[in-house]
Amino acid sequence: MLDFLNPETLYQIIYQFVFQLTLAVTAPLRPNSDIYWAYLLSALLLGILVTAVQHARTSTQENTAEDKSVSFLKGFCKKHFAKTLWTHPSALLDMRFYFVNAIVFPCLFAPIALQSPAVVDVLNNISNNWVGVTESVHPASWWDLDLLSITAVKVIYTALFFVAYDGGRFVAHSLLHDNKYLWEFHKIHHSAQVLTPFTSFRVHPVDLIIMVSVPALTTGFVTWLFVCFVSKDINFYTLLNLHIFICLFNCVDNLRHWNVWLTYPAPFDRWLISPAHHQLHHSAAQEHWGCNRGFELAIWDRLYKTIITPSKTPMNIKLGLGDEDLTGWSTLAHLYLNPFKSLFKQAHNLKKA
Ligand SMILES: [Zn+2]
Ligand SMILES: [Zn+2]
Repeated sequence: MLDFLNPETLYQIIYQFVFQLTLAVTAPLRPNSDIYWAYLLSALLLGILVTAVQHARTSTQENTAEDKSVSFLKGFCKKHFAKTLWTHPSALLDMRFYFVNAIVFPCLFAPIALQSPAVVDVLNNISNNWVGVTESVHPASWWDLDLLSITAVKVIYTALFFVAYDGGRFVAHSLLHDNKYLWEFHKIHHSAQVLTPFTSFRVHPVDLIIMVSVPALTTGFVTWLFVCFVSKDINFYTLLNLHIFICLFNCVDNLRHWNVWLTYPAPFDRWLISPAHHQLHHSAAQEHWGCNRGFELAIWDRLYKTIITPSKTPMNIKLGLGDEDLTGWSTLAHLYLNPFKSLFKQAHNLKKA
């Protein structure tokens, strides 16, 4: 039990509060944050490029090139930096939730979430103690690998780790949609009425635990296979200290939650989830519910038959939870407590029945 009158305990609480808040404020300076400045900048540049192409296709021949670029930039700012978008109550709630959850999640919930290295340790213990497989020390001690083979193994590990990570995220997201109890927690993300990059953080701590733990299991398993059968020093290729593919996709991913319509050209739109795929995932229309659950690779949605390919021209999508009244999702207390209230109600109804 925490003794709040103990100066040491108080110091620890205040230290954690200030530390987590500082991390949240300085997130744009850290590449492991979704809102790292370079990812935001690349999303902005891509947004301008995509909108310019769409604008060029639809604008008339009469105006001069200079007129067109001025009216385009004006139109771009008017639509994508609109006051009605960025100061919409739903967008402001996303920002408040970002700061509060930046303290609440790491202090109260993160210790429960699984981490990939811990999964590797558990699997190592099982294989060492129960099955009798010992982890290798270095590739050279196993197969006497040359530099080319080590590079090949590293490329394969980099690719498999990413597939496992993306597949794990798809499974976690599908659980959140298909399990009626977990859906109560995931509803918070879908209750957003407008999308800005801060909507990525509108995720209930319970939802986050699932979204962190399932990929930790899948990537932990893949890493264990390599640690066990190739080398315990195995690592993937990195960029800015992140998995190279995760880092590259981060340059596009902020467009998932912004009113810029980016689709990928064929045949890439069959293999990758574009930001427009994800915007369709947020649609309140019943025919779109539960579609496009993937994050980067489209193979999972195609296998699970939940893929809906967005049209190349921007679609007019009403966001939200379908016919549900969204006024009940307008405060921080709603976002944190609504799922528990719903579950309590369901349990109470079950008892009565
Ligand atoms: Zn989303
Ligand atoms: Zn979802």
